[in-house]
Amino acid sequence: MTFAYAPAPESRSVVDIAPSYGLFIDGEFTEAAGAKVFKTVSPASEEVLSEVAHAAAEDVDRAVRAARKAFEKWSALPGAERAKYLFRIARIIQERSRELAVLETLDNGKPIRESRDSDLPLVAAHFFYYAGWADKLPYAGFGADPRPLGVAGQVIPWNFPLLMLAWKIAPALAAGNTVVLKPAETTPLSALFFADICRQAGLPKGVVNIITGDGSTGAELVTHPGVDKVAFTGSTEVGKAIARTVAGTDKKLTLELGGKAANIVFDDAPVDQAVEGIVNGIFFNQGHVCCAGSRLLVQESVADEILDALKRRMSTLRVGDPLDKNTDIGAINSPEQLARIRELADAGEAEGAERWAPSCELPSTGYWFAPTLFTGVTQAHRIAREEIFGPVLSVLTFRTPAEAVEKANNTPYGLSAGVWTEKGSRILWMADKLRAGIVWANTFNKFDPASPFGGYKESGFGREGGRHGLEAYLNVG
Ligand code: NAD
Repeated sequence: MTFAYAPAPESRSVVDIAPSYGLFIDGEFTEAAGAKVFKTVSPASEEVLSEVAHAAAEDVDRAVRAARKAFEKWSALPGAERAKYLFRIARIIQERSRELAVLETLDNGKPIRESRDSDLPLVAAHFFYYAGWADKLPYAGFGADPRPLGVAGQVIPWNFPLLMLAWKIAPALAAGNTVVLKPAETTPLSALFFADICRQAGLPKGVVNIITGDGSTGAELVTHPGVDKVAFTGSTEVGKAIARTVAGTDKKLTLELGGKAANIVFDDAPVDQAVEGIVNGIFFNQGHVCCAGSRLLVQESVADEILDALKRRMSTLRVGDPLDKNTDIGAINSPEQLARIRELADAGEAEGAERWAPSCELPSTGYWFAPTLFTGVTQAHRIAREEIFGPVLSVLTFRTPAEAVEKANNTPYGLSAGVWTEKGSRILWMADKLRAGIVWANTFNKFDPASPFGGYKESGFGREGGRHGLEAYLNVG
């Protein structure tokens, strides 16, 4: 299928991106020591959006010291006062949401429909939700006198840059901690705009510090002796390395890592609804989702019917300009990620699975990958075992609920799963047996700030969201 793009109605002009950005330390934007910079590029157009400071070890140290100094006053503020700042930040995010949605789409490549209707509302909701907690901590079963941990060193990935920031910063601040956050090197801009929002909200200096750089900056941050709590979201490989370096220190640690979720469709599920759930599960955000439903487990008796309907639906997906409101699948975030997706998809073919993608014309500049389906997949195939983090779905079949559970759990990961069936008793049985932190029933990729999110097994430990998300930033008792 080929298609023409409508001109992008969400114009770039709603966001004013400066040619360069410094680090945000102690309430001010400052140059990095040694003045090292890196470029951030739009993955859809390959245009350089801005040059961003690359923090060195001494910048990390400066940021941690600023956070430590601010901690004394911030943690001593009554909860109701901290709540006022969080409410203010939430309202500014709402007011600036159009600008932030366009910015996120430019820097990340995700469709504007998703950044506008999903990311930004959830970002604001997180700040509202945790603002509501800030004055209730002594009465919430954490003990009579729950205390903040101190300085939180937070490292986040590129797939939901502003939302991952909100998941980290909102509970930390509500609990009375101060933070130093490092966004991913391919998507630093929304965190820097958030720094500006902190200033606009009058947040005291040093409570939030944003340092930009690559993995070396992240490593400096998580190993800094002045950091009391490390919160990391990213790959399992880096999470394990961080766990090793943090072991033997007095730092607290939470890890939100990779996934290989099963989306399990039983023969009584309404076909159209299940197909929408499968499409949303794997093609939302180009499949750059830790809890993506990247393995479809479909009951053998309805496999042909579901696959036919799925292929028809995939043929209607529009890949292209992320600023176009009609786009379903935007750009892959970086050439490195594109190379990884291609490598795994090629391995799928080489190992004998059957590859199918709707015919679609991909733009000639930027980084793109068509929505792709593999059938004839076995559990031994790499595409059934490894996180692809792209718009690639591996289909396996099962006959009985027990076989579905066995296959779904046959992975080192355990972040999420989806179950599609009309039978309530089966949903409860499956939810009990599936080794996954989140089990969705007749839906997928639903998020709520009040609901704890986190993994089993190599998907990490600790929970973000809800009351549990606060516990990760408190000394309880
Ligand atoms: P990544 O691990 O390569 O990088 C994540 C962040 O860690 C980046 O900011 C990076 O600069 C930094 N980093 C890299 N090496 C580091 C080191 N040695 N020490 C400290 N920081 C370091 O992951 P990514 O490619 O940016 O993100 C994709 C991964 O994130 C996927 O595996 C995905 O499943 C996972 N993820 C998990 C969740 C969750 O909640 N479980 C949410 C989103 C993404």
